[in-house]
Amino acid sequence: MGLPMRLSRYFLPTLKEAPSDAQIVSHQLMLRAGLIRQEAAGIYAWLPLGLRVLKKVEQIVREEMDRAGAVELLMPTIQLADLWRESGRYEAYGDEMLRITDRHKRDLLYGPTAEEVVTDIFRAYVKSYKDLPLNLYNIQWKFRDERRPRFGVMRGREFLMKDAYSFDLNEADARAAYNRMFIAYLNTFARMGLKAVPMKADTGPIGGDLSHEFIVLADTGESQVFCHKDLVEMGAPGPDVDWDGDLQPLVDQRTALYAATEEMHDADAFAAVPADKQLSARGIEVGHIFYFGEKYSDPMKARVTGPDGVDVNVHMGSYGVGVSRLLGAIIEASHDEGGIIWPEAVAPFDLALINLRPGDEACDAACEQAYAALTAAGRAVLYDDTAERPGGKFARADLIGLPWQMIVGPKGLAEGNVEIKNRASGERSTAPLADVIAGLSAKAAA
Ligand code: ATP
Ligand code: MG
Repeated sequence: MGLPMRLSRYFLPTLKEAPSDAQIVSHQLMLRAGLIRQEAAGIYAWLPLGLRVLKKVEQIVREEMDRAGAVELLMPTIQLADLWRESGRYEAYGDEMLRITDRHKRDLLYGPTAEEVVTDIFRAYVKSYKDLPLNLYNIQWKFRDERRPRFGVMRGREFLMKDAYSFDLNEADARAAYNRMFIAYLNTFARMGLKAVPMKADTGPIGGDLSHEFIVLADTGESQVFCHKDLVEMGAPGPDVDWDGDLQPLVDQRTALYAATEEMHDADAFAAVPADKQLSARGIEVGHIFYFGEKYSDPMKARVTGPDGVDVNVHMGSYGVGVSRLLGAIIEASHDEGGIIWPEAVAPFDLALINLRPGDEACDAACEQAYAALTAAGRAVLYDDTAERPGGKFARADLIGLPWQMIVGPKGLAEGNVEIKNRASGERSTAPLADVIAGLSAKAAA
């Protein structure tokens, strides 16, 4: 069963104009399409339509993490400052950290990331190499008091992140864990209809020596990137990879081609890329993976007993995905003058069922029939049963960007027909009601 909705009973506050401070198209469209509302700088309420997309994106991320062998838990948003004092990051993290004091004058903070908490959980329970490898992840709100929150959810202060943490006995195993995440990321972003390119990256304040950012190309992106064109076109490996096998060749296929963010850019190496394959572009960072070895396990004493009976620090990596940022990135990559064009996998509903004349007996009956049949077939239908004029309904349907529109009006119905429009291609066709229902139902089964 799809989760259907009658627009007359929904909460979809669309706007004619975007507020003037929304500078990039994804931010404008998210506000206009009633997906989000700003409550404070960089802090958003997720309105019902936006929440549906957020949940879909989150679910794809979750499924691909699970497939790669990571295990989900949920850590708190509020963390103890003492854990960060142990790792040495409490002072170092700086003004991006939102520091809080409770009634007992204990120092807390709203987590900007969770290396310390997950390491604390790990060391409490895991004592033997036999319990490795282990990869724990959560999808949880983070807070970073960004100097310049902007571009809507793209650079928020409160934002939803998937963060995974791998624990291994040695560096070789940790690299295998890193490779699993690398491949999982390629699959994750491809499922959302995105071309996300892995780029060699700086490890920044997190530390460590192996890191990649996954970047979606878009003119409005904050990152300057240099890469080989073939890397953009290369598809994802797909779900059938052997997760317990050697993934290094698959990773090497990508890392053999030049790709680097501005910070890591090596102009000489880039010059060696054939001239017609050089791509200097802008992009949006949607994911970031790190291997950092013993950076946290050493100060926080996260140790396991190895096969030889000797205790060693575990080798760790961390793997972030900007779940809420992804909505902005998807819209930057997929929109037109009319509004958003959601890829099917993340669309909040599968189709807009547009009744051009509510109150007309034939139109109402045909719409109710389609609504019930498509819902039963597993399609999520947003039924526009409102009294708005046809022009307004068409504009709203284009703006919110559901993959299909089914348009039911008295003229067509007199001949037994309805119209179907594909949002992405703009193609329209007219066909008997029963055929359209059957066609759209079959798409759900496929
Ligand atoms: P950036 O360079 O954009 O500040 P970062 O290197 O600080 O990113 P990480 O610490 O690696 O980011 O966080 C993991 C992911 O979380 C990033 O790849 C990004 O997609 C997302 N992310 C980071 N900061 C924000 C933010 N302020 N708003 C929304 N998403 C964010
Ligand atoms: Mg940052």
